[in-house]
Amino acid sequence: VNDLIRSFVAVEVPDAARAQVCELLSRLGPVPGVRWVKPDAMHLTLAFLGEVTQNFIRSAEQALAPVAASAQCFDARLSGLGAFPSAHRARVFWVGMDQGRDELCRLQASIVQALVPVGFVPESRKFSPHLTLGRLKVPADVSSPAGVRFTGTAFAVDRVILFRSELRPEGPRYTRLAEFALAPSA
Ligand code: ATP
Ligand code: MG
Repeated sequence: VNDLIRSFVAVEVPDAARAQVCELLSRLGPVPGVRWVKPDAMHLTLAFLGEVTQNFIRSAEQALAPVAASAQCFDARLSGLGAFPSAHRARVFWVGMDQGRDELCRLQASIVQALVPVGFVPESRKFSPHLTLGRLKVPADVSSPAGVRFTGTAFAVDRVILFRSELRPEGPRYTRLAEFALAPSA
């Protein structure tokens, strides 16, 4: 009953868009030091809840439902490569988005706002929409691969997912705890 559940809220990226990312990765070729995210696991994280109780999950679900229902579906498009904290000393290598950025930022902000009363502690950093492609244990320069041009095709963002994350030596396993549909766009 007191078991902790590692969880996060995210937007899924459809197969077609992830396939375009895979094609991009094959164009990039090897990038030394990067541990790549498995394509199946790629997503756009909105809020990382961390290790929380089942009670917290239940409250979070109740808080998320009305937020999702009052946000409209929108189109998003992956575009551009980048890295945190910078391309010269990268720890996280990612693909960004152009279309749908503002909508995703608003959705993220409303989710955070709804989760705070439940006990969620927001990050102090400004939200920066990205899909993590890979991670580096030792920061390295990825400015050359990050300079490759990429723009995917647009897809509809029509729901947010509450995921459970189980960290395993072979990589994290994400499973869906709950799904919240956004309101149909007019
Ligand atoms: P691994 O930790 O094994 O590399 P992972 O980072 O994908 O795998 P989690 O650590 O469970 O798995 O993270 C789940 C999601 O939450 C990922 O999108 C991750 O980038 C994001 N995340 C994890 N920790 C934080 C954090 N401290 N702040 C913001 N986002 C985070
Ligand atoms: Mg992690």
